[in-house]
Amino acid sequence: MGSGDNGGCQGSVYSIHLQLTEDERVRVSSTPVHSTEIEVSPYTVTYTDYESTDGGPTGPVTFQLPILYATWPIDKALPEGMEYVVENEIHIPEPLITRAAPGDPIINLNYPLTGRILDYDDELSINIPLAQLTIGVAGYNCEPFTTTLGDFSFMVSLPYFPLHPMAVSATVTVTFLNSGGAWKITGNSTTAPITRTLTATFRTDASGNPIPTQIVIPEDNSQLGEIHRAAHYFYATQNELPKTGLSSGIRIVANPQPDPEYPDARGNFAYSSSNTSRDPYINIYNHGLSDSKVVGTTIHELGHSVHFLNNRSAYTDVPDLLHESFASYSGWYLGEQYYETLGWEKPSGLLTVGMRQPSSDEVDITGQARQDWDETMLSWYSPLFIDLTDGINQNAYFTNARNYLSENVQNVPPSVVWNIISTCTTWGQVRTKMEQTLVPRYCTSTQLDDYLEEYNYWFFVNTGSISR
Ligand SMILES: [Zn+2]
Repeated sequence: MGSGDNGGCQGSVYSIHLQLTEDERVRVSSTPVHSTEIEVSPYTVTYTDYESTDGGPTGPVTFQLPILYATWPIDKALPEGMEYVVENEIHIPEPLITRAAPGDPIINLNYPLTGRILDYDDELSINIPLAQLTIGVAGYNCEPFTTTLGDFSFMVSLPYFPLHPMAVSATVTVTFLNSGGAWKITGNSTTAPITRTLTATFRTDASGNPIPTQIVIPEDNSQLGEIHRAAHYFYATQNELPKTGLSSGIRIVANPQPDPEYPDARGNFAYSSSNTSRDPYINIYNHGLSDSKVVGTTIHELGHSVHFLNNRSAYTDVPDLLHESFASYSGWYLGEQYYETLGWEKPSGLLTVGMRQPSSDEVDITGQARQDWDETMLSWYSPLFIDLTDGINQNAYFTNARNYLSENVQNVPPSVVWNIISTCTTWGQVRTKMEQTLVPRYCTSTQLDDYLEEYNYWFFVNTGSISR
C-alpha cells in the first residue's frame, strides 16, 4: 500500500487499483466510483521498472487483469470485501467553477453581485443593515458603491454554460469604508477612514439566478459597527436635535482599548479651549460594554459636538454640568429612539421595575439616563434636561434617603431643550430661559422652582454662586 510523495500537500483522493472477478466488475461498475480506466481483457501485465514509494527499485510486478483503476475520496471508507491496492495520495485542487460536462462551451455573463452588509447587535440579538457604507469589490473593475440601507449591487463577469445551466460561485473580496460624509471613523493615529476587507462567496442557483449574499462584519475591538450605526442615526434621520457638522466630517476615533489616562472614560469630546477655530474630534473607547451603551456614548459625544460647533466661542464659558447634561440628553433621547426603531420596547416608567435602582438596563438601555444623580453628587452628568422630557418622577417612586428631584415636568420636546441650552452660557440664563419657555405650557412656576431647587443647591455648593 503506497502513500506517494505529493509535494507536501494534503491529498484529497487515493489512486487505487482493484483486482476484480467478473462478478465484482459488474458490481463495482454500478457503484459511484470515478473510474479512469477499466480493462476487462483476461491477461496480465508485468512492470519491470516499478519503483517503491521511497524511490528504490523493486523486482518485476505483475498485475492480473481485469483491474479497475480508480480514484477514491480520502474521507470515504474504502471498499470492503475486495482486494485493492492504494497506489498514491493525490491532491486535486478545488476548481473555482465546475464545468457541467467535458467540452461544454463556456461564455462569460455579467451577473449582478448583490448583498447586504450587516452588523450584529448584542442587545437585540439581531443583524442590522449598515446604512451609508462605501463598498468596493476587488478584481472586477467595479466602481465603489455607497449603500443606503446596507444593500449593494455590482456587475461581475463569470463563466456560464449555455448547454447545461448550473450553479456557479466565485469568492469576491469586498472592502468597505466607514464614512458617512458628515462623519468619518478613524484609527487613533490617522485621519483616514477605517476600511475593512472581507471575503464573501457569490453564488447562483442551478438556473443561474444570483443568490444575494449576506456579509456580517466581524465584531472586533474597534466597535466599528456600533459607532457607524450611531453616527448614521444621528445625522441621517429626522429628529429634533441640530445637525451642525464640519465640511470635512467630524472625526470619530475608534479606540480599541480604554483611555490610558482616564481608564473609566467611555468616550470624550476633544476641542481646544484656547483656539476654538481648531476642529474638534471624538474618541470612543472600548470597555467591552453592550452595543447599546456604545451607541449611547457615541451620540453623547456627537451632542457635545453640535453644542460646540453651534457657537464655538461661547462653548468654553458654559459650565460643565450643562455640557454634560445636554450631551447625556442627546445620548439618551436619540439612543432610545434608535433602539425603538429597531423594535426595542421602552418600559413604561419605573413602576414596571418596582423599587429597583432606576439605572438598571431595563430602563436605561443607553447608559445615558443619569437617573441616579442627586444634588449631593459632584458629578456633572445630571438628568437636568432628560427629566424635562421623560415621564418619570424619581421622587414619587424612590422615597429612600436620597434627595431625588421632584420633577413634575414632562414631555418637553427636544427642540425646546435645544433652544434652552443653545442660547445660554450660565446657570442663571438657563433658569430664566426655562421659565420663559416652559411655564405655563409644560409646568407651573412653582413646579419649575421645585425642580430647579436641587440644581440651585448643586451650583451653590460647587461654584459658590446661584446668581442669575
Ligand atoms: Zn460628555
